[in-house]
Amino acid sequence: MLDPRKDPMGAAIADYHRQGKAARLRVFSPDFDEDEIPVATLFRTADTMPPLERQALQLAHGRILDVGAGAGCHSLALQAMGHNVTAIDISPLAVETMTARGVKDARIEDFWSVEARYHTILMLMNGIGIVGRLERLPQLFSHLQQILTDGGQLLLDSSDLCYLFEEEEGIIELPGGAYYDELEYRMQYKAIKGDPFPWLYIDFDTLSEAAEAHGFRAELITMGEHYDYLARVTRR
Ligand code: SAH
Repeated sequence: MLDPRKDPMGAAIADYHRQGKAARLRVFSPDFDEDEIPVATLFRTADTMPPLERQALQLAHGRILDVGAGAGCHSLALQAMGHNVTAIDISPLAVETMTARGVKDARIEDFWSVEARYHTILMLMNGIGIVGRLERLPQLFSHLQQILTDGGQLLLDSSDLCYLFEEEEGIIELPGGAYYDELEYRMQYKAIKGDPFPWLYIDFDTLSEAAEAHGFRAELITMGEHYDYLARVTRR
């Protein structure tokens, strides 16, 4: 569980919920210049979500698990559609906020400790990032074997970050020989600094190969406008 003293995103979410505004949620990475996450986007509604996310909501069915649910935007939209959804996050501040916003079943829970089975598992806003590194993908698939019902689905969106490393001639340079989609992030909100964490972005082909190797099938549902995509993973 995240210690609130080391949970910049949770603090930003709680502030935005209480005050209707938040300070800058800053993101640092050795791989790019300082960036920020506009906190308001964590509070997006079905109307303001990107089309890929809206499509994911349409495809969700049965008992739904919203992994790393943040401020609960997807869970709230799904509840409004009449679905039964469990929202989990390791940030107590995020979970407190989700509950206050009306998420009926919001729990402080680590994805890797989930034991119940779900028909639909959502990992949106690149939620597959929690896998961290490519070498941990087998753990994701063995966990999915445990927590997906027969015929269940994982819906995820991610991006192929190849464009970040494309040289002018279009050659992709892999920094340090690492898979180019493993980024290290650190966040800061006001004086609250989080620990650095690895966050995986995965291109569809790599996802698909890994899925095949572990008894699953990945299906490309839609390509977004900027190297992003929505995919569905099911048992083979
Ligand atoms: N899905 C939300 C929030 C994305 S931010 C949205 O689309 O707006 C990612 C969230 O994942 C953060 O709130 C973070 O606390 C949570 N998280 C990170 N690791 C996690 C884990 N192992 N289990 C559950 N949640 C996790």
